[in-house]
Amino acid sequence: MNAPDEGFGPLGLGATLLASLHALGYEEPTPIQREAIPVLLAGHDVVGRAATGTGKTAAFALPILQRLADDLDTAREPLALVLVPTRELAMQVSEAIYKYGHASGCTVVPVYGGQHIGRQLDALRRGVHVVVATPGRAIDHVRRGSLALGSIRTVVLDEADEMLDMGFAEDIDTLLEAVPVERQTVLFSATMPPRIDAIARRHLRDPVRVSIEPAHATTGVAPLVRQRVYVVRRNHKAAALGRILDVETPAATIVFCRTRSEVDQLAETLNGRGYRAEALHGGMDQEQRDRVMGRLRSGTAELLVATDVAARGLDVDVLTHVVNYDVPSAPEAYVHRIGRVGRAGRDGVAITLAEPRELRLLANIERLTKQKIGAEQVPTVAELRARQDDRTVATISAAIVEDGERDSSRAALRPLLDRLTAEHDLGDVALAAIRLVHEANGALDDEIEIPDATPRPDARSRDDRGDRKRAASPGPRRELSATTTTGRVHVSAGKSSKVRPQDLVGAIANETRLTGRQIGAIRVADHYSVVEVPDDAVDEVVAALSSTLLRGKKVSARRFVEHHH
Ligand code: AMP
Repeated sequence: MNAPDEGFGPLGLGATLLASLHALGYEEPTPIQREAIPVLLAGHDVVGRAATGTGKTAAFALPILQRLADDLDTAREPLALVLVPTRELAMQVSEAIYKYGHASGCTVVPVYGGQHIGRQLDALRRGVHVVVATPGRAIDHVRRGSLALGSIRTVVLDEADEMLDMGFAEDIDTLLEAVPVERQTVLFSATMPPRIDAIARRHLRDPVRVSIEPAHATTGVAPLVRQRVYVVRRNHKAAALGRILDVETPAATIVFCRTRSEVDQLAETLNGRGYRAEALHGGMDQEQRDRVMGRLRSGTAELLVATDVAARGLDVDVLTHVVNYDVPSAPEAYVHRIGRVGRAGRDGVAITLAEPRELRLLANIERLTKQKIGAEQVPTVAELRARQDDRTVATISAAIVEDGERDSSRAALRPLLDRLTAEHDLGDVALAAIRLVHEANGALDDEIEIPDATPRPDARSRDDRGDRKRAASPGPRRELSATTTTGRVHVSAGKSSKVRPQDLVGAIANETRLTGRQIGAIRVADHYSVVEVPDDAVDEVVAALSSTLLRGKKVSARRFVEHHH
């Protein structure tokens, strides 16, 4: 890895795109971006070996946006075509291109089978710069005359291996015959079977090969670091992390996120859920960093949330746990992160939260480090309760031993016991005291279960693409406990009203008897949000949210019932 300190600056992107990346909180290019962007900007064809989660979308999208920048105003027909295997990916890639390019004035539309063709026709008729399409639907539009390919300058085949697996080989050939000969062609694929090579030979010109396969596979992981992965859906991650921390009770933890905005959001969400988390920022000077580390040492803070860049130069001797809130796209980054614990003969724990689609990245890491990362299940409510019970029994047992050694404190408390037993049964007194200790130790009722999202073996690679429904089904080994069921609350405001997960956590924790820790997954969609809470608290949460303001606005809330087909 060369010059990892300079961010996106040296790659050759223009000021508008750099500003967009800055606004998104991307601090450094991923390895595939560092390799592919300059080559694509120079106009070369590229064959890239990279899976989802490596940052490959930005790797091809940013150069496309840069190269089209001067012609966006005058273009009459689409200038770039991105072919993808699935509807999910079409939407995802199109969202990414919008995110990076709307400040530059670039328009993009996803085109896929299944969606009513009329809507797509309207969008295409209005004129767009970039079309992201599944091959079959792209051909439909070409035949109808609604998709003109005569001005296409760049074609991207994204997840080419998947497209071939899904039987799109002929459609791809047809489309590549129909675009101008003078064009740039980019092919990304997670695997490189011979059929992919054949396509590259037929349709690409002197392609430059880029790959994130580790060039130097010698990086070792300290043997004293215990590594674990939990597979959960994205919107369960914050709750899952809380649950893991509750059982683990680490002394000092650093949680790594991909972007600055994720760092801020997660720190706020965790604080809302009752953990003492501090965000660490790249802009902090050494003195501020030392102060944060001091708070971690003294226990005033339990958790540090940071990007890789912000965590540089930390004095990390106190850390016992490293958490990867996402699977890092560069295996080297993973090794570097977890190298922050397990130093000088002390043992450490590295915890990774992975979405199903990130499992491939994890496989890369296992290959590089030549170690398996064991998959674990998020603690269940029953396990959590057992831990809390143990803790309370241990606290009280320790106090009994301690008091036995200090007769004076016992003597001082004896009259209190006498007063209480004059009116109450001794057992009732003890139970009330135990309850108070139990609660003071952080024990809570009504925690909700967090489902494991490990893809079923028969669902195979489909799940890597984030097929939410299937991936969300509970894992094979675990059944939902019967003690608490999860209810969902639908709230009538979402991203378009600037609602963030932490706003919902805050509102619910303030207005109901629930604590932040009892709130489960939160999904904030464009125009609505769905929050998981214990089922018996749904009515209370609905009532509370209906009568409070969220981001300054009144919202309506109701019990959310999922429709099964
Ligand atoms: P992809 O592999 O294209 O699916 O990207 C995986 C995720 O990484 C997406 O959520 C991107 O927004 C994010 N991402 C891509 N590049 C960067 C970067 N340089 N820094 C931080 N996050 C990134």
